[in-house]
Order: sequence, then structure tokens, then C-alpha cells
Amino acid sequence: MEGKLNVQTENIFPVIKKFLYSDHEIFLRELISNAVDATQKLKTLSTRGDFKGELGDLTIDVKIDSKKKTLTVSDRGIGMTADEVEKYINQIAFSGVTDFLDKYKDSHEPLIGHFGLGFYSAFMVSDKVEIFTKSWKDEPAQHWSCEGNPEFSMEEDKKHTDRGTDIVLHIADDCKEFLEEGTILQLLKKYCRFMPVAIRFGEETVWVDSETDCDKDSKPKRVEKKQPRIINDPEPAWKKSPSSLTDEDYKKFYHELFPMNFEEPLFQIHLNVDYPFNLTGILYFPKVRKTIDPNRNKIQLYCNQVFVTDQVEGVVPDYLMLLHGVLDSPDIPLNVSRSYLQSDANVKKISTHISKKVADKLEEMSKKKEGEEKSALAEKWDDIKIFVQYGMLTDEKFCERAMKFYLLKGVDGTYYTLDSYREKIKALQTDKDKTVCYLYASNAEEEHAYIEKAKAKGYDVLLMDSPLESHFINLLEQKIEKTRFVRVDSDTVEKLIPHEDSIPEKLGKEEQEKLKPIIEGEVDKDKFTVQLESLESDDAPMQVTQSEFMRRYREMAQTSGGGMGFYGELPESYNLVVNINHPLIGRVLNETDTEKQKELVHQLTDLALLGNGLLKGEALSRFLKRSVEMI
Ligand code: ADP
Repeated sequence: MEGKLNVQTENIFPVIKKFLYSDHEIFLRELISNAVDATQKLKTLSTRGDFKGELGDLTIDVKIDSKKKTLTVSDRGIGMTADEVEKYINQIAFSGVTDFLDKYKDSHEPLIGHFGLGFYSAFMVSDKVEIFTKSWKDEPAQHWSCEGNPEFSMEEDKKHTDRGTDIVLHIADDCKEFLEEGTILQLLKKYCRFMPVAIRFGEETVWVDSETDCDKDSKPKRVEKKQPRIINDPEPAWKKSPSSLTDEDYKKFYHELFPMNFEEPLFQIHLNVDYPFNLTGILYFPKVRKTIDPNRNKIQLYCNQVFVTDQVEGVVPDYLMLLHGVLDSPDIPLNVSRSYLQSDANVKKISTHISKKVADKLEEMSKKKEGEEKSALAEKWDDIKIFVQYGMLTDEKFCERAMKFYLLKGVDGTYYTLDSYREKIKALQTDKDKTVCYLYASNAEEEHAYIEKAKAKGYDVLLMDSPLESHFINLLEQKIEKTRFVRVDSDTVEKLIPHEDSIPEKLGKEEQEKLKPIIEGEVDKDKFTVQLESLESDDAPMQVTQSEFMRRYREMAQTSGGGMGFYGELPESYNLVVNINHPLIGRVLNETDTEKQKELVHQLTDLALLGNGLLKGEALSRFLKRSVEMI
């Protein structure tokens, strides 16, 4: 029999050929998905008792014949009768999957389908496509053939007696790469790695115990053996029940997914929902230290175990793209644009669900188990802190949840929840305006002198050292009322947390007016602002501080790029705080020899700079030389 395909336009084949040129390779996914479907359908028929014969070996075979220039996909599934070929293949608009689903709605075997062009994508790479198929029903086999135009031929095929379908692609000259074993293997690994029916392609070499030869300890010798290569894992971990998996199993699966990632994941979340949408998957938390990994294709999206994409923008919230793993859902529309995807109701629900599960997991980990010194969350906190901060900064709902389990870390390494920390510092660190002042250091080494001074006052100091910290501090100041964060070096210790009582000044107004220009004359005015202050007389004579506001905004401008440009361009500037109650400052004022006076001012400013790590290079050498001379 010969016929004409029932297509809307005569020119569908050139269109198929050009269809997303870069996506040519998906033809293999489509054909193997069909083969998997046909196999799953047969299993369902068998379970229901409709099919009573032997299932036999259901492995799908992929074969290359480089002489005939063909690529063949063979399955031992339900096959098609002549009527079915007419209906499902010749009448493009019909989808066999839709029919089957109607009939077997409550089947447990998942079906793959609805990828769009399906079978016809074979014409993207072929001059001619043949189908040899024999249905599970007692009907003759069929041979269908089409050369990439709307004409086709179909005849009975006497030779074929085995149940199942062979799809034979006669690969076009401009698609020769699909006749290479390496290319096909790579594609199979990409799209079919977790498909639910075993897929065989080529051979592999393995080492096994010899059945005949022994070594000198009479143990069997290890010998090389060739065996058919199965390219997929039909039962990936995410499809199994979480209770049947150990931590080791999860780790093993992580390395199966990402063979090139040698670091162990920290922990994982196993997703398993069937109502109101269907979603399974495993998300792993990798270590996120100082940088946010720009490599964002570490979450793979599957539809019933068929790989779809590793570009999940829109499907999961931005901050969750730092995670690694797999998501599998038939409820994510796959042949739509990204912008459509983002507005799809199911996708939104899925995205919200994942976000909620992540918050659940972290909250659960934050509960300290009996006998444990630290919660599981505190154990891993340093490695996931940036992740949580990123989430809180970008996702309002997650932020609300995370306020309960977010951990602050003291410079001594102790972890506190936001609530418990406020309780701890409230008494001593509330200023005269009833604002609770959180003191922090960005670098415990560099700010050591300031941290010590704050501690001596009985204050607690936090370590806040992530690259997102300035943004995050702003967020906390908005979220928690009557809260201010101050870096320990942003003011003298008295002024970090201003209380009512002030220290009496030893120098009068006039003396102060005389002192200021003496010091200003000796320092770089573009960089330093001289500030006279009344501090304890045993406090340092001079100190260098940096305004919290200016510093934080400069840092934020640097990490957020654009929009805050003005702050980013500000020069670094410092305050030189002069303690007017210190005896040495009195000496500067009273020194009559101007050379000696200058020398003293230099010595004192250099000492202050030294305490802040700002005295470097030539200035440091001069200081050392001058110190020796003065002694
Ligand atoms: P879809 O799979 O999305 O329905 P296809 O164009 O890929 O669309 O396939 C159309 C129909 O042809 C399928 O639904 C199925 O009924 C039938 N079919 C395709 N390949 C096979 C196969 N290997 N074995 C049995 N039936 C098949």
C-alpha cells in the first residue's frame, strides 16, 4: 500500500529538519522514549492479565551499521498493528499516548510522551526512515517506509515474527556524526542515563575472575572480558523510597550524577510528592564557601526519567540553583518558552514546594538532639551560610522561615539563633536610644585590637565574613526592630554603643582649637579626618576608625554592581581619633620645639595606623627608624 501522510502542509519535512538545528540530537531521546513507552505498556498489559505470553528480555537495543549507514532502535514492547501504524504514525495529530492514558489511567508504570514532534524528529537526521513492527496481538508484522516527503509505503512483513518494533534511520550525509559510536554513546548518556528500561549499546570491557585459570595462590586469575554494554541505571535513587536509602547510597548516587565532582555533598533532601502535582527528586547541598558558584547547571530536570534539560532557571528559585541534583516531574510543561514556564501555575507550585522543603529541612536540622553539643545545622553552618543568606535576600517567604533558624557566629566560634543572641547582648549592648547594637568583625585577625577592646568592656563580637554580609546586615536591620550593626573598628569603643554618661574633658575649648591644626598639618587630609574626643585617659592616645555607613555602602556597591555606583567610587577614608585626655596628647600641645612636636605627632599617628594594619612600606620603615632614634 502507498499513501500520503495526513499533514497540514506539504512542507513539514524541511521544517522538521531545520527545527531547532542545535537540538537535532533530541531525535534519539524521542525514539528511545517511544521504545520505553511501548515496553512499559506491555508490562502493564501483562500485569493486568491482558497479555498472557512471555515478556522475555525487554532490553532496548541501539545499533549502528556503518556500511549501510543506519542507526536502529529496537524494542520488544507492544508493537503496532497495521491499523495502529495508520492511526499513530500516519495521522500525525494522533498521539497514542493520549489514547493509552485514557484507557489505563490508573496504571503504575509511568509513561513518557508529549515531547512534541516525537517520532517525526527522526527526519531531522535521516533521508529515509523505516519501521518494522509486530504487535503483541496476533496480527501480521508491518514494514513502513518513508523518504522524508509526505509519501510513504506500507506492506505486510513476512520475515518479522518477533514482537516489538525496529526503527531504522538511514542517516543523511550531513549528519554523519550520528553513525559514530562516540557520539551516540554520549547522547545516550545524556538523555537516557536513567530511563526505566535497560538500554544496550555496543560492548564494554570488564575485569572478571577467570573460570579456568588460577594464579599461584590458587585464586582465580583476573581476566578481561567483553560484554554487552548497558548504558543506563533503570532504577535511580530518586525513584526509590527514602526509607530504603542510607546516607552512603545518597552519596554514591551523587557521584553517579556528577562523576567530575570529587567533593562530598553536605546533606540532601529527597522530594516525593504526588498531589497536587507530581514531583520526585534529590537535591544535594554542596559546600558553598567564599564564592557563589557561577556554574549553574547542576540541577538536571527529568520527565519520567527522561533527561530534559539542565537549565532550570524559572523552575526553581534563583538561590536554590546553588544546589546540585535531579528533579523529575511530568507536570512541568516541556515544550514552552522560559518566560511561559515562569508563569505556569504548576511550575510556580513546584518552585514554592521545593523552597518550603528546603526551609523544613534546615529548620529540622537546627533542633539540637539530646546529648549533642551542637545542632546538625551549626555543624555545617560555615559551608551553607552564604546559601541561606542568598535565599533570605532573594525570597521573602524563605526569609520569614529562616529568621527562626539563621545562626550568628561569635568570634570565639559559638553559634546563636537570632532570638537567643539578642537575649544575650540586650543588657549591656543597648544604647541610649534603646537600640540594640550588634558588634561584628569582618576579619578576626585584622580587627583583633578592636575586638579585644570591645570584649574588655564586656561586649560580644560576631564574626561576619561572607561576601554578602553588607547586604545581609541591611536586611536584618530592617527585619528586626531597634537593631543596629556596627563593625568594631567603626568608632572608638565608647562610641560604638553610646550610653548616657560622658567623660569630663581635660583640655578646654581653646586648647582643643590650638591642637587640631597641629595634628591636621601632619596627616594626609584626603584620607583622614581628625576628630578630638574625650576618652578614658588610659585609652590609646590616637586611634584610626572607619565609618560603618561609608564602609558598608562601598562594599555593597562593589558586590552588587550597577545602581549603587556612586558609593563604589568613594575613596577609602578614615577617622583619626585623638584622645584629648591622654597625657601624651597634652605633651604634643605643650611641646615648644616644633621639630620635636612634629616627630611626636608622627610617632603617635603611626602607632594608631599600626594598630589598624594600615602602616605599610616606606612609612613603616620610617616609623621603625624613628622609633629607634627616639629610644
Ligand atoms: P508521542 O510519543 O508523543 O505520542 P510519537 O510521534 O513519538 O508521539 O509517537 C506516536 C505514536 O506512535 C505513539 O504514541 C505510539 O502509539 C506509537 N509508537 C511510536 N513508537 C513506537 C514503538 N517503538 N512501539 C510502539 N508504538 C510506537
